Amino acid sequence: MSESFNLFRLQQLDLSRIKIMRRQKEIEKIINADENVQKAQQIVDEAQKALDLASKAYDTIHQQVEERNLKLKYSQAKLFGGQISNPKELQDLEAESAALKSFIAELSDQQFVALEELEERQNALKSAEETLTQVKSQTATKHSKLMGESRQLEDKLPNINTQRTALRAQVSKANYQSYVGLLKTKGGRAVAEVIDSSCDACGVRVAPGDIQRAKSPSEIVYCKTCGRMLYAK
Ligand SMILES: [Zn+2]
Repeated sequence: MSESFNLFRLQQLDLSRIKIMRRQKEIEKIINADENVQKAQQIVDEAQKALDLASKAYDTIHQQVEERNLKLKYSQAKLFGGQISNPKELQDLEAESAALKSFIAELSDQQFVALEELEERQNALKSAEETLTQVKSQTATKHSKLMGESRQLEDKLPNINTQRTALRAQVSKANYQSYVGLLKTKGGRAVAEVIDSSCDACGVRVAPGDIQRAKSPSEIVYCKTCGRMLYAK
């Protein structure tokens, strides 16, 4: 086997490795930050905030009603207790009771609206939580597939690495260094095959003499146009 063929094979293995690792990184990213889960969680958080506000508003009104009820009770006790006989005083107490009753009625309406709002918010939160649970479960299923894929990719690596080590041992140190350098500068493609007398990477024709030399077992010929190593069958 020629040096250029070994380098060409080495490149195929390296491209497979890069592809695998890139996909694994992608999968890791998807699992770490699932957009759907984050969105569903955000809706739950907002629903919880809205519920807290509605709950606070209801409590405030409820407390006001309690206070007025207590005052009314006190006022009525005085009014019907028989200890007050002064008509002016009784009239004032009656007026106070009436005002309190009217205010309580008004507050009760508000309390009812607040209660309806509270129930609505509770339902919204419950629904958002159910959605979140659903999305999480869907995501877990989706991720189990991805995790399976990642494991399958991982399983492929040892074989590739073994082949790579064996090939690397057959390539001269100088050519290997040149290969690694070209991988970095030539967009991950250091070796180009000669197909139909042209460099498969840049498409420019290769001189017949160079093609002949590229076929030799030990010589490395570089494409005069793109600078990549040439491999010819
Ligand atoms: Zn070229």
